[in-house]
Amino acid sequence: MHGYDLLVVGSANADLVIGLDRRPGPGETVLGSDLVIHPGGKGANQAAAAARLGARTTLLARVGDDAYGRMLAEAQRAAGAGTAGLLVGTADLPGTVDRPGTVSTDGAAQDAEEGKGAPTGVALITVDAAGDNSIVVSPGANARLTPDDVAAARDLFEAAAVVSLQLEIPLETVAAAARSAAEHGARVVLNPSPPAALPEDVLALCDPLVVNEHEARLLLDDGQPLSTEPEQWATALLALGPRSVVVTLGADGALVAGPGVDAGAADRIGTARVPSPRVKAVDTTGAGDAFTGALGWRLGRGDSLEEAVRYAVRVGALAVTRPGAQESYPSAQEVQAVGQ
Ligand code: ATP
Repeated sequence: MHGYDLLVVGSANADLVIGLDRRPGPGETVLGSDLVIHPGGKGANQAAAAARLGARTTLLARVGDDAYGRMLAEAQRAAGAGTAGLLVGTADLPGTVDRPGTVSTDGAAQDAEEGKGAPTGVALITVDAAGDNSIVVSPGANARLTPDDVAAARDLFEAAAVVSLQLEIPLETVAAAARSAAEHGARVVLNPSPPAALPEDVLALCDPLVVNEHEARLLLDDGQPLSTEPEQWATALLALGPRSVVVTLGADGALVAGPGVDAGAADRIGTARVPSPRVKAVDTTGAGDAFTGALGWRLGRGDSLEEAVRYAVRVGALAVTRPGAQESYPSAQEVQAVGQ
């Protein structure tokens, strides 16, 4: 029996959102709506989604010692996620970029001197009248989550059935977390977003690698036009080394590929389409994170990959029926009401 169904290692950001008629061009100023601030970041979203469903989950992440950091911690608590792994402040850690134009080789000393450390990560989001958005992310404290933090959180890895990873924190930290998960017998779920090349041994641990269409295209980009068949993408992605693959397909649900899928023998690769319930989409922000958080939780509870994806598509579908990311995530009762 594991202490945690799911350990999420990743980012926590404050999402600062302004609506406007038209996004500004270079040098232009436009007026927008009132500012709305949401808890966000892929790691925080996944942990919140799983916790809201009833998972025993915790988030290993780093926030600044500031108001946004406190908001993110409160959002995790409100969703029911553990905060034992939520590290606050960065003054004792080496910095990367401390302030615009100052690439510091000794950020730790500078931060400590000023006694403030890096701020909580922030995503500045503008959404225009057509619903198209532009996003600038300042990683802040997320960029200071280190392999040493992973080593220091050994007890969380020991207690976890599944460890879920994304790429909004340093790649070396993601790699350390995947290796620590493997060392402690935990299953690794990894969403390569934003897309980046993963070390071969890390890719080989992914069970599954979870990608949307855009990420699949980038990972498979070898100059050849990609086929229109997601089944073929999944097969090509499996050839890169992960143990299994899930491709999310928006309103079309998801595709699962791996050994034993579609009632095949455990040593035979199968693929299966899992349709999403039909819903009226209001805001798809964070749907992928809700899907992956739910998937990790269900795998941690012992579901097969196909069963876990069947559950996760219902969670993703419900998440798009309401505005926001974490605020839109459903409870287990709501998922139950959607049916099988
Ligand atoms: P995002 O970046 O918007 O968080 P994503 O691009 O990573 O999402 P998607 O494939 O768009 O991932 O969505 C993830 C899951 O959410 C889908 O597999 C599906 O279950 C659900 N979903 C998304 N959009 C819809 C929709 N319009 N109708 C029903 N379900 C949806």
